[in-house]
Amino acid sequence: MSLLSRQTLILATLACTLVACATSPLGRRQFLLVSDAEVSQAGAASFQAMQKKIPQSKDSRQVAYVNCVSAAIVNEIPRLQVQGRLHVPTGWEVAVFDSKDVNAFALPGGKIGVYSGLLKVAATQDQLAAVVGHEVSHVLAGHSAERYSETVASQIGGVVVQATTGVNGDLVGMATQAFILLPFSRAHETEADLLGLDLMAAAGFDPRQSITLWQNMARAGGGKPPEFMSSHPSDETRIRNLSERLYTAMPIYERARAEGRQPRCS
Ligand SMILES: [Zn+2]
Repeated sequence: MSLLSRQTLILATLACTLVACATSPLGRRQFLLVSDAEVSQAGAASFQAMQKKIPQSKDSRQVAYVNCVSAAIVNEIPRLQVQGRLHVPTGWEVAVFDSKDVNAFALPGGKIGVYSGLLKVAATQDQLAAVVGHEVSHVLAGHSAERYSETVASQIGGVVVQATTGVNGDLVGMATQAFILLPFSRAHETEADLLGLDLMAAAGFDPRQSITLWQNMARAGGGKPPEFMSSHPSDETRIRNLSERLYTAMPIYERARAEGRQPRCS
């Protein structure tokens, strides 16, 4: 183990023991070293950098469609019933990137990014809702905050290294590393899948379509896997977990439809 990773581990263990342990919405213990406000600031900085780097869609119908699905999803956040604490941003902003990449993300601070290439694979409003629900759930469950905490911890642990190498950790660099570049863990992916399923169902999107989405994604394959396919869990495990969860998601969906939440985004 390197000096850097040993320091990080000691710091993380100490911090978790003393101050920074929280509980995720699905009851998992998590390590959080930074406040929601700090993570939101980093998310916003990272979003700004993405907007500078990647051209945004000029197709106003496409932008309106993605906004319609995203708004329906985030409006239902107050309705979510969970065990632990949700990390709910004060508002949400949506960007549609003009890119062939099949990808999407959500950042703390309430930022959602959808690549236009995704819309070819997430072919219906319900399938797009499955992706947006999944990405938003990473933020709500504090996954982005956990990864940022780990990145910050490694930077603090790396102070000695920085002094000798001159390598410095800037906000945007750390945020991009934590939110965009590092893959989520298997535990994070599973939580985002399950929370996302409840969320899309509460918004009146058919949760069964999430399974169709993963099947489409698996078929599309090729190239670098998008965030929500990032290798864990395997397609079959993911589809099995979602199928089992439909038992609770379907009644949520049926209640939403009965109460008039029937989004028509096109
Ligand atoms: Zn994910």
